Amino acid sequence: MEISQILQFWYDRNRRDLPWRRTRDPYLIWLSEIILQQTRVAQGMDYYLKFAERFPNVAALAAASEDEVLKLWQGLGYYSRARNLHTAAIQVMEGECRGQFPTRYSALSRLKGVGPYTAAAIASFSADEPVAVVDGNVYRVLARLFDIPTPIDSTGGQKEFQALATQLLDPQHPGLHNQALMEFGALQCTPLSPHCDTCPLSGKCLALANRTVGERPVKAGKVKVRERRLHYYLFKYKDTLWVHQRGSGDIWQGLWEFPVTEGDEILHPEVPAAFTIRHQLTHQLLICDFRIISLQEPIRTLPSGYIQITWQNWQKKAVAKLISEANRKFSVLF
Ligand code: SF4
Repeated sequence: MEISQILQFWYDRNRRDLPWRRTRDPYLIWLSEIILQQTRVAQGMDYYLKFAERFPNVAALAAASEDEVLKLWQGLGYYSRARNLHTAAIQVMEGECRGQFPTRYSALSRLKGVGPYTAAAIASFSADEPVAVVDGNVYRVLARLFDIPTPIDSTGGQKEFQALATQLLDPQHPGLHNQALMEFGALQCTPLSPHCDTCPLSGKCLALANRTVGERPVKAGKVKVRERRLHYYLFKYKDTLWVHQRGSGDIWQGLWEFPVTEGDEILHPEVPAAFTIRHQLTHQLLICDFRIISLQEPIRTLPSGYIQITWQNWQKKAVAKLISEANRKFSVLF
């Protein structure tokens, strides 16, 4: 049997029953794909169900405010993806698609935030267009099956794996093939301790034969992490505080937070930090001090962009995970 047939046979018996697999609606598949880029399936499920219920179609999502989309996304991180989700929905409604969510790879690729992987996934799952998906799971399975030492994060590697994935694709059932390959990577050929003893492809697996399973896939370089020191201030007056929305050009665009300074610039250095939170992002480690400044009277002239808000209304604003953690600690004060 060919590799694809074995995978599809395996998939038929082992697949997880997930809500986005019960539909061929490209909009819902897109929603699930964007959410699942952020998180594991268990947590992603809650977000998917919330989004699909609140925005059952692309028109509903496009009509929402960006604030509402960000609020529903809260906790998933990578907020630029939520903004792209909203922008793409508007693109579908107002652009050349005229409200019809596309199913062709070429049209999908033009949507904001849709890269080659996502476009291939939607096109093959919803309309059986014969395009191969290559995600982290696929890289791993192919690197092991064919014992490939080329780093998967190099330009050459990406081309090599894409070509191999295209060769393996079953042109009769591309959607099924792609789903089977990804699910196989998620459940059978897992990153740590893959289940080689029960693997239906073990007879064909070159890494198993060559005892290199633990060394595949190869990654070239680790990402450099930049360390940043942020100082946040809770300016508190009765049941109110001061907040602002983050601008563009840095992390968390469009999300709300407390006043903040960075590096050596500390307002009220005489006030000791109430607590410190270390927050790891992909390329940055944030070390954040939080100070409480209790005011006897409200601030009269506010810097532009700042608003005074009650603690209760503050809870309705979309915030990053770090700020939501600080909110939990500050809640005893209100
Ligand atoms: S034998 Fe092991 S490494 Fe090879 S494909 Fe199967 S699970 Fe993956």
